[in-house]
Amino acid sequence: AAALDPRTRELTRRRRVLGDAYRLFYRHPVEVVRGRGAHAWDAQGNEYLDMYNNVPSVGHAHPRVVEAVHRQMSELNTHTRYLHEAILDYADDLLSTMPDGLDEVMFVCTGSEANDLALRVGREYTGGRAYIATAEAYHGNTALVSAHSPSLAGAETMDPTLRVVTPPDTYRLGDETAEGAGAAWLARIEAAIAEIEASGDGFAGLILDSSFSSDGIFLGETGMIRAALDLVHAHGGVVIADEVQPGFGRTGEAFWGFARQGLGPFDAAGRPADPFVPDLVTTGKPMGNGFPIAAMAARHEVLEAFATKRPYFNTFGGNPVAIAAAQAVLDVIRDEGLQRRALDVGAQVREGLREVALSHPAIGDVRGSGQYTGLELVVDRETKEPATALALDLLEELRERRLLTSVCGPNNSVLKLRPPLAFESSDVPRLVETLDASLTALGA
Ligand code: PMP
Repeated sequence: AAALDPRTRELTRRRRVLGDAYRLFYRHPVEVVRGRGAHAWDAQGNEYLDMYNNVPSVGHAHPRVVEAVHRQMSELNTHTRYLHEAILDYADDLLSTMPDGLDEVMFVCTGSEANDLALRVGREYTGGRAYIATAEAYHGNTALVSAHSPSLAGAETMDPTLRVVTPPDTYRLGDETAEGAGAAWLARIEAAIAEIEASGDGFAGLILDSSFSSDGIFLGETGMIRAALDLVHAHGGVVIADEVQPGFGRTGEAFWGFARQGLGPFDAAGRPADPFVPDLVTTGKPMGNGFPIAAMAARHEVLEAFATKRPYFNTFGGNPVAIAAAQAVLDVIRDEGLQRRALDVGAQVREGLREVALSHPAIGDVRGSGQYTGLELVVDRETKEPATALALDLLEELRERRLLTSVCGPNNSVLKLRPPLAFESSDVPRLVETLDASLTALGA
């Protein structure tokens, strides 16, 4: 038989041993073997600009995280049924980043587990079953969570009590002004709650990624969706803030995505005069810079109903090594001022992209906050028809030019720019030039 090239051989082998469920990025998948900051290298020594990875959030292979994990792993790692003071120190430190009222935290290994627990806790506390989620939301891979992740519809069976709402689309649907989007979303949440209350399913609450990541990235003005969140509370539901994407400083304005829904002026530490307090907060991805650790923070009153009745054990969740990683991440975010950097450099990114838009009419919208930017591609700026094919071609073109990213939104027409917070302003020109050249190459 003719010899296969090494890449084809590896893909064939991967499929043989891993099966068909996993999806890789790119027509020519990337194999990266080393990273630093927002940069990664493949086995041939080619360097890539990583505009996608929110997992190594403080930067690929950050030396302080590496050192903390190495030190703790050399001393002890174990299951989570022993005392270990570092776990309590980290719990206190993490809770100190949240508003008063969120005073307990449980550690798990993945965002999926955190959301699974939160959905169960919310049902126990409210006595209701039915949640609201957004139209393209992804919250994780357990049976319960995937049944509350409409982006999997077709592949998974949705929970029959789940109600789905479209996001506050600040670009379309007549939601274009911050006020309009907030008001439109309030009306949608109101209608969903009314439907649940009429059905007899019992209202459990809202599970929400407040950056609307899979829905197309709609961070909007701070406070944009506050009225809708207050309405959930007024009807006795819990708000589960899924912070897997916006948390840990990414949006720049606040340490947590939900904190952007505070009202009144924000102080220097990013705390608003009138904070929004969710009932349950779930985190994951960036928490350990790639080391598996995730958490669910809760108001005591909300967790109590569950915790007193249902023992919960998680072998690996919050073990000493995971906690060492998480503590190092929190320390680095503070010591290197990464929330502030996200705010400043993210603004430079969008300014640069808006310049590119001047010569590329396919760019319909550039939006975001901090280091979370959505760039929406359209066939026509008037009709705003989504340019899905172009977006998918652009991804490949960017990849060939060694810039890694992906797409989101209901039509896969929104380029998702979500680099490690370590992304530096000196990388902005390369991003801008690569995007400009790629669009030109595609005739857009
Ligand atoms: N929530 C959101 C918003 C996510 O983006 C993801 C992962 N993409 C998850 C939850 C699930 O996290 P994990 O993959 O760690 O289970």
